[in-house]
Parts: sequence; C-alpha cells; structure tokens
Amino acid sequence: MEKAKEAALKKRAAAKKTAAKKPTAAREKAPLFEPLQFPAGTLLGAHTSTAGGLATAIERALTCGFTAAQLFVKNNKQWFAPALAEEEAKAFRAARKKSGVMFFAHNSYLINLGSFDPQMFATSVKAMVAELERAEALELPFMVLHPGSHGGRGEEAGLARIVEGLNLVTKATAGYRCKLALEITAGQGNALGYCLEHLTYLIENMADDARGGICLDTAHLFAAGYNIHAREGYEKVVADVEKQLGTRRVLGLHLNDSKVPFASRVDRHHHLGEGHIGLETFRWIVEDPRWARTPKVLETPKGEDMREDVVNLGKLASYLQ
Ligand SMILES: [Zn+2]
Ligand SMILES: [Zn+2]
Repeated sequence: MEKAKEAALKKRAAAKKTAAKKPTAAREKAPLFEPLQFPAGTLLGAHTSTAGGLATAIERALTCGFTAAQLFVKNNKQWFAPALAEEEAKAFRAARKKSGVMFFAHNSYLINLGSFDPQMFATSVKAMVAELERAEALELPFMVLHPGSHGGRGEEAGLARIVEGLNLVTKATAGYRCKLALEITAGQGNALGYCLEHLTYLIENMADDARGGICLDTAHLFAAGYNIHAREGYEKVVADVEKQLGTRRVLGLHLNDSKVPFASRVDRHHHLGEGHIGLETFRWIVEDPRWARTPKVLETPKGEDMREDVVNLGKLASYLQ
C-alpha cells in the first residue's frame, strides 16, 4: 500500500515536471491534427469536455471537425450545480447555432431512478429535473440517461420504480422539448435496461411517452449479449428495434468498441477496431441509411487534445459517402 502510494506520488511529480517544461502557449500552437471533414449531413463526433465553460465544448468540437457531440450539462460527479446563468445559456445557444454542430446531453452517473432508498430516489429525481432544466435552457434536443439499478429488489420491481421516477421527472418538466433517451446498458450488477424489452417497457409505461426515446451503445449491446459483431446479429438488433419501438425512437448512438469479450456484462469502452467488436460493425452503422439522421458519438478513452477521437473517427471516413 505504502509502496503504491509512493510510486503514485513520484509519478505525479514527474508528470508535473514534464508539464512545466512545456509552456501552455507552445502546446496550443503546436499543430495537433487536421480537423475531420465529413460529408454534409453526417452527424458524427464524440463526448466532449466542457472544462472551462459550457461553450468551450463547441470550440473543441469544431477543432476536431465534429458534426455531433455529447456533453454533461454540469460536473457529472456532483449531484447539483449552481443555477445556470442566462448569459451563459444564451452564449452557448448562439455559438451552438453558429457552429452547426448537433449537441445533446448525458446525465450524471450518480442518478439512479431505480433506487429503493427514499432519499436516494428523491435526490435522483430532483437532480434529473435540474439537469433537464439546464439542457432545456441550452436547447439540447435530448438527454441520455442510464435507466437505473434495482439494488437487489429484482427486475420487475426495479423497472416499476424507474417508471415512477421517469413520471415524476416528466411531470416536473412538463412542456419541455428535451427528450429522455434511455440508454441500453451492459447489464453490470443490478443495472436494468440491458435489453430492448426493458427499454420498450419503460417507454410504454411513461405517462408522457412522447418524451421517451432510447440511445444504443455498441459496447453495451455487445456486452449485454447482442452479437452485433456478426452481420446477422446486427441486422437482428435493428429489426428488433424497428419492431418494438421503431427506429425513430433511437435518438442517439454511442460508438464504442469493447475491451471485454462478448456477453461479459461488463462495461469497458475501447478504440474502434481495437476491441472485441471490430471495425466492420461501425462500418455497417455509418453506412446504414436507417441511422443517417441519428447522431453518433464516441465515448472512447482520450487525452486532453482529443486526437484519439480524430483517429477513431478517421477510421470511418472512407465509409461515409
Ligand atoms: Zn454510452
Ligand atoms: Zn459504457
């Protein structure tokens, strides 16, 4: 334990030294990469940091050449944030419009609408409402959310609890244009939403089901046991989505390869073509006319300058026509 601590401290000190050697200005000036150039109408990008203010995400997206991007409307590791100033929201809306980049939101990982702990459930509902208030002020069309975890109470009870939570949230945000995109999960632990049937059940039971949609994450589908690495498996999932919900309910797609094998029920994202899914699946997705108007974003590992995102999306460039 002590040794590990010492090593970590040493590593941090070394990192500080290298950082000190490179002045920020020089780092900013250095040519990092050419921005991606997608054909008109393509909606492709990555989860983008808002460090330094919400509008900085737009600059980052433009630097990389994204045409779609996902962001957190506030620090995702905290329950609540100070109210969003109208000037900041206004500046974001104007810059977003000018950029032409399609932005949408992802909720905080702390939120669990499936919780049976009264305090946790109430805080989750309150936090979700607060996040939607921000997303609405930013004119984001939808917010991706992980449905929730039942904490040992069982799936049926958990799903009913999430419906209860969703209905409290939509009631408190009645009239909002911002939709809720329930994300398919890898099915880790007690997480619900690892199959289309769960997502269909949740939407069908929402009092305001017009606000309900889904987000499909390739790494989660694969980990949950959908064999999208095979063409017939991919076609089967899309056919099932069409049958159960209709592809128009799919508000967004997360393009992530998987670090863990098929049906492992573990959520570990990897660079496109370097994981167990393989690049072909991503080719099918970007070539599939059914997803032509669906924004697709990466949630793969990256450093501050996002060059990894540019590399990952660059792998898809030749398929985009
Ligand atoms: Zn995702
Ligand atoms: Zn994930």
